[in-house]
Amino acid sequence: MRSFGEFATVLENVKSTSSKNEKVRILADYLRELDEDDSLLAARFATGRPSEKGSVDETQVGYSTIFDAIGEITGLTPKAMGKVYLKYGDLGDLACEVLGEKKETALFSSQLAMREVGEAFEKLSKTKGKGSSSIKKNHVKSLLLRGSPVEARYLVKILTREMRIGLVDGLVEEAIAKAHSIDHAAVREAHLLLGDIGLLARRARAGTIGEARLQKLRPTNFMLAESMSTAKEIAEYFGKEVYAEYKYDGVRAQVHRAGGEVRIFSRRLEDISKSFPEICRESSKINHDFIIDGEIVPFKDGKPLPFQLLQRRLRRIEGFEEAASRTPVTFFCFDILLLDDDELYRRPLSERRQFLSRSIRGTGLLQTESRTIRTSEDLEETFSASRSSGYEGLVVKDPDGPYTPGRRGKWWVKLKEELDTLDVVIVGAEYGHGKRAGVISDYTFAVRDGAGLKVIGKAYSGVTDKEIKELTARIKETTVKDHGYFREVEPTIVLEVAFDSIQQSDRHDSGFALRFPRIKTIRHDKSAEEIDTIERVKEVFSSQRVKLEDR
Ligand code: ATP
Repeated sequence: MRSFGEFATVLENVKSTSSKNEKVRILADYLRELDEDDSLLAARFATGRPSEKGSVDETQVGYSTIFDAIGEITGLTPKAMGKVYLKYGDLGDLACEVLGEKKETALFSSQLAMREVGEAFEKLSKTKGKGSSSIKKNHVKSLLLRGSPVEARYLVKILTREMRIGLVDGLVEEAIAKAHSIDHAAVREAHLLLGDIGLLARRARAGTIGEARLQKLRPTNFMLAESMSTAKEIAEYFGKEVYAEYKYDGVRAQVHRAGGEVRIFSRRLEDISKSFPEICRESSKINHDFIIDGEIVPFKDGKPLPFQLLQRRLRRIEGFEEAASRTPVTFFCFDILLLDDDELYRRPLSERRQFLSRSIRGTGLLQTESRTIRTSEDLEETFSASRSSGYEGLVVKDPDGPYTPGRRGKWWVKLKEELDTLDVVIVGAEYGHGKRAGVISDYTFAVRDGAGLKVIGKAYSGVTDKEIKELTARIKETTVKDHGYFREVEPTIVLEVAFDSIQQSDRHDSGFALRFPRIKTIRHDKSAEEIDTIERVKEVFSSQRVKLEDR
């Protein structure tokens, strides 16, 4: 049985070198010595995950619970701890420092085994409902009391899912390959299929990477689409008959059924079954085991509803049935990866689609709207049909293509509408965070409303470091009022911003907000008099087929 202390030392060594190769070597040397169970835990913990991806019970422990637990052990005030936190910006490093200063070091008693940590995290994930936060706090406290300060650093880093030692998932994957002298590409392939790095490490240890299979009720990574900008480009690229499917704006989901059980997974491989009881019900009408891929779309009377309604459903922690009746959704299926014990994902899409249609017949699940076409004119026409029915565009698919988990291959190519842009003027700004601390990089901007200005959004992406420097200088010169964290500025700097859509919103005084705004260019050539007006905003808003509200 291996100790958690040894694992923590390995991570300290990984942290202390900036060389990626060295990080991989250190971890690989350690993994090579472990048995299957410890390999699973070590790989999972090293990527900052306390529990398996997609598990129903995720170990959810908030910052404040950990903060309180450390406070109670050390007797430090929140203010004193806040000071230490600011020094590192990392709760794990804070834990290590303040627990190290604790006089009663004898508190750190017996050796903690990897397996005990795994069990403690499992216990935490099973603690739910009323009063659970104080029970969780006590569990965290006893765990921290058993470990040394360095162990506490890593216990906290895993619980907060922020490892921050330069060990991205790809490097852990590489270390697994190196530890057992397996080809990295084979390990990567298996990882994409299995979804969870712990399961991957266990298989690598057991020498069964080549036998990795899709597993019912365990999420696999989603296949993604390449992007092309015109119908012509797409038609030329494929040069044959393709399936042009409508692109639905909802939440990507993978529905699994095994025996009587149905589970739904999100693109981040999280279990979202509870949020969609009606999809679980409809899916259980299929009398087979399966894995089906598709998009959950808010949908009523044959039409899509605003996407945000769906986000609200996902944020809920109770009242799922009531939400389901208020905001109806439909699961639009477009692929099937497995049917009973038949792995279909390597077969061509044309075959998979037949299995899919047959499987969902007689249920409330629908198949995506699709046309089989060849020319760019047909593609353009289908694209317009999709847009005018309220969808985002098309995903064009090769009928001969396999399903490639986790890959953005060219078997699927998406075509979306050219983005709208607005010319706006900066009226306020804030200093950035992280890499952008010290420069003014968050800009609040407005459109014209008669003689005045109305705020419509905030953006911080799309500009280069050089442009940010330039903007910082200009904003400092034109500051009208400095509120410390926020500056009001003279409206002189014009930006062209791109966005996905406009929604009604109480957030800004214009009554509108941009969805996913990004700065396209700084319009040095334009003055504030020439920016877009609130009338144009209203025009764009009402031309959108699906109107969003954010109130
Ligand atoms: P986007 O922001 O355009 O949705 P993305 O990065 O989220 O892009 P991509 O793989 O690039 O994802 O684009 C495909 C996405 O479109 C899928 O992830 C899925 O959520 C959505 N989608 C909607 N309809 C379909 C469809 N018929 N086939 C495949 N994907 C679809």
